[in-house]
This record gives sequence, C-alpha cells and structure tokens, in this order.
Amino acid sequence: MTLAAFACDPAQSRGRRFAQAPAPTRTEYQRDRDRIVHCTAFRRLVYKTQVFLNHEGDLFRTRLTHSLEVAQLGRSIARSLQLNEDLVEAIALAHDLGHTPFGHAGQDALNECMTEFGGFEHNLQSLRVVDKLEERYPQFDGLNLTFETREGILKHCSRSHALDLEQHEPGGVGRRFLARTQPSLEAQLCNLADEIAYNAHDIDDGVRSGLITLEQLQEVALFDDYRRETLAEYPQLQDQSQGRRLLYESIRRMLSAQVYDVIAATGQALDAAAPCSADAVRQMPPLLQFGEEMRLKSQELKKFLLQQLYRHPQVMQTTGLAQQMVRELFDAYLNNPQEMQGRFLARSAAACGAADELSAAARVVADYIAGMTDRFAGHEHERLTGQRLLS
Ligand code: MG
Repeated sequence: MTLAAFACDPAQSRGRRFAQAPAPTRTEYQRDRDRIVHCTAFRRLVYKTQVFLNHEGDLFRTRLTHSLEVAQLGRSIARSLQLNEDLVEAIALAHDLGHTPFGHAGQDALNECMTEFGGFEHNLQSLRVVDKLEERYPQFDGLNLTFETREGILKHCSRSHALDLEQHEPGGVGRRFLARTQPSLEAQLCNLADEIAYNAHDIDDGVRSGLITLEQLQEVALFDDYRRETLAEYPQLQDQSQGRRLLYESIRRMLSAQVYDVIAATGQALDAAAPCSADAVRQMPPLLQFGEEMRLKSQELKKFLLQQLYRHPQVMQTTGLAQQMVRELFDAYLNNPQEMQGRFLARSAAACGAADELSAAARVVADYIAGMTDRFAGHEHERLTGQRLLS
C-alpha cells in the first residue's frame, strides 16, 4: 500500500526506548500491534465496562469490543487517506488499556482517591501499562513500543504530568502538551474514530437496555436523517417487530456518512495545508476533522447521549455503587497492602522508606485497582468488606 508523504512511515520511526533488532517480516508498527494484542491488559478489556457494567448483560459493548470497533473505523479511514493503517490499529487497540473497572465512574473515583498523590488519568495510565506495568520481556519493563504508538496512546495529559514525563524522557511523548503541538494524523484519527464508535454503539446499547427509545432518538438530527432515509427505502421497517433492523440500518448509514465526511473534510484540509511529512503535520493545527455540519450534528448527538443515557437515573445509580467500591478498595489496600497480590505487594514493600513513601504506596494501589476487571473488583470488594454491592 502506498503511504502519503504526511503518513507515519515505520522506516522513519523515532524508535523504541530500548533498541531492538528489526523483525524479519513485520514493520515496527505491526510489531507494536502484535505486542498489544498479546499483552495481559488487552485480554482484561473484555471484562471491563464501557457504559453498561459488565454484569448487566452479555451483549453490551465492553472495552474490548469498543477498541475493535475503533480499530475498524480507524483503519477504514486511514486506508482512504493513505495513512498508516498498522499504526492506527496499534493505537486504537491500546487506547483504553489504562481504563479502570466500571468505566468512567471507576476512573473518577480513583482520580479522587489519588488527589493528594498526583491524581489518576486513564490516558496516562494506558501509557503506563505499555511502558511499565506489563511484565513480558527479560530486558525491560512494559512492551517497549515505538514513539509513534506511545504518542497516540497519550491522547490527553495534564501539564504537571507532561512536565514529569519530559523530565524522564526529554523530547518524548510529554513534549507536545508543553509545546502545544499536534500528534501524528494517525493519532488524531484514533481520537475521532473513538468518538464515532462510541456515539454509534452507545445508541445501540442504550436502546437495547431500554433506557433510550427510537422515539427519543428522533430529536437527534444525525440519527433521524438516516432513520427517515431507511424508512423511505424500506417502509416495512415501520412495523414495531422490525425495530432492531431499523435501528441497525440507521446506525450503519450514520457510521458510513461520518466516515465519508471525515475522509472528505480531512482530504480538503490536507490539500490546503499540504504538509510534506509526518513531522510537518505535528507543527500544524489539527487536520483530521469532520466537516462543519457533521461536527455540529455529532456534538448534538453527544449532548443527547450525555443527558439521556450517561446521566440516566439507572446508570447514575450503578455509577454511585461502582464509585463506592473503588473508594473502599483503595482504602482497604492502602491500609493493608498485604491484601494485594504478588508483585503489587512487593512493589508496595519497596516503596517503604522512600522520600514520598505514601505517594509511592498509593500509586501501587492505583495501578492494582486500575488493572482489575469489573468482576475481579467486585469479588475483591466483597472479600474485603463483606458487602455485595453489585450482583
Ligand atoms: Mg475509547
């Protein structure tokens, strides 16, 4: 496949933190992708909540199926724009590795617990997983991924954490948050593909759960345009029993329209800006984008999902319980590190006597909890508190 001049070329990679000989048959980004698929944190994504808690049903998205959908959308757009599909796939599959159990509820609770100890950010945690927490190689911690994959994984980062990263890795992945430059187009693409994926699958899961209805969705232009188009073509789907087919066909058309829109709008932006290399892209404003009309429609859909689904009383109730579980787990392990398994207990013991002893111990607990699946966290919570909050 021909790559555009502004795509990331594995032969021009800024490389890995620990030098390794090239693989005989795979490019550096293919290698990154393969390392991610084989790591432990990736397998755990299947039991981590996206919006609906993992125990609420077998058909809802999990972090794993979400990540696969982001990879699919990302690759599809990458190919049309002659960007590097392998890099997009690697970033997409790794982008949520740092997510806590219980989705955003878990991450918010853990961030609160860590307020005095440097906070908790899931993007930074995804980087921590691939840089440090995975133990798979004799020579180094983490997966030793290329700069470009790590750059894409670190989607957001606070200034204080960026300064910290910069100190440990001068000119590395923290730099752009200080210099206010952009990441590669492949990384920009994964951000947008993430949004396109969750907007669409949260409609599907929301309707499946019964928390939102097809009638309510008629107030959202981005969805309703395609519902009407579908019904005009297949009037028989008006029948109540055909609701799922109508839903899927509308979502399918909505997804395709967004993909074509990104390709067209970004193509125009690229023509106008004419970046001559992947590095030139980093110095320009964001180029990977929706057209203006689609951007507004997508915003409207997001707002609808926030109000009608993510803040639905039933979701809020489980959110509250999930946050309680994370807070209680955090306190239990911080007070009794011996309740943690193997290497986390060892790391906690190693933190004893350090200058920032309490912060270091809290970070071990945060790493331990962040790595948990929903059900492991639930079992641990029950074991440590005798309470069963979610069943
Ligand atoms: Mg995501």
